[in-house]
Amino acid sequence: MSIESYIEAMPKAELHVHLEGAVSPEELLLIAEQNEVAEQIKHFNTWAALVQKPDYERLDDIIRVACQWVQLPEDLTRIAYNVGTNLSKQNVRYAEVSVTPALYSGLSLSLEQFFAALNDGRERAERAWGIRIGWVLTLPRDEPRRGDEYVRFATSPGGRRANIVALGLAGTETAHPVGQFERTFVTAEKKGLPRVVHAGEILGAEGVLAALQTLSPNRVVDGWGISESKEVRDLMHEKSVSLDVSMIAALRRNRIADYQAYPLRQLYDDGVVITLGADMPELFQTTLNEQYTIVVRDLGFDLEELEEIALNAVRVSALPEDERETLLGEFRQTYDALRAEHIEAQTE
Ligand SMILES: [Zn+2]
Repeated sequence: MSIESYIEAMPKAELHVHLEGAVSPEELLLIAEQNEVAEQIKHFNTWAALVQKPDYERLDDIIRVACQWVQLPEDLTRIAYNVGTNLSKQNVRYAEVSVTPALYSGLSLSLEQFFAALNDGRERAERAWGIRIGWVLTLPRDEPRRGDEYVRFATSPGGRRANIVALGLAGTETAHPVGQFERTFVTAEKKGLPRVVHAGEILGAEGVLAALQTLSPNRVVDGWGISESKEVRDLMHEKSVSLDVSMIAALRRNRIADYQAYPLRQLYDDGVVITLGADMPELFQTTLNEQYTIVVRDLGFDLEELEEIALNAVRVSALPEDERETLLGEFRQTYDALRAEHIEAQTE
């Protein structure tokens, strides 16, 4: 029994995970084989190798190519089930999974059909493992023109039936000025749909500031540069915006040399409401449990602090308030019991 075994056993909520980076390479390659993709695209073997052992300089291309292998609605169903199963193995009880339908150019489905296929897999995973998943319908930064369609669907009765819990924005931060997304995100806000915005990866604090001022996000994802800007932190505090950090993206994209270089302690001590995510666990070759472990092992957080960060993911989730309270109560109770079993018994 150890801190690692305790972390594995902790029930968790995961708010920053992308469907495209969370499906296992084995599942993707199986889908590619069944769809006879090797006969359709050039250099299939190179891409197949890259999916299993990514070159992080080419990550966006790897994702784009692998998404083209998905050609049938039932492929989406399998992917959703696979991702739900993988999350459940990490003891994730609730996840908000980002999905970018625009990437699946080999499928010509309406958003309604797209999510119907995903929800088949989501429901199977829920029945099998008890995991609950909500979707963050994510607009890619290079396609602002899809904004109207996405927000219209996400805020429609069909969108709610499809279990879409938030509107997301992700992709290359500099592709278009943030103003191009303003109307879409203002509409989402007016209709009461939560907004989850990736910012800072390229533009740092300035990019986060622009996103905060223009898109009124509930959560900022990544947020690189926030530790260097009191102005941004003050604005986040004032607007009650939390931060979904991605230490693994910072590491894999060479923004930090090692985990100790990630300014998590500073953000935490400055009062930023933080959650931890695995982002693209399969492509980045990590797990949520590993990210939790790093916070204690490499960054010197104690277990009380880790538990607070874990509970933040429930607190700032898009779940209705009564469900958040229920889940918080369950998690707290389980943490106490698990801690007695995994940690305290050992030190006596
Ligand atoms: Zn992300």
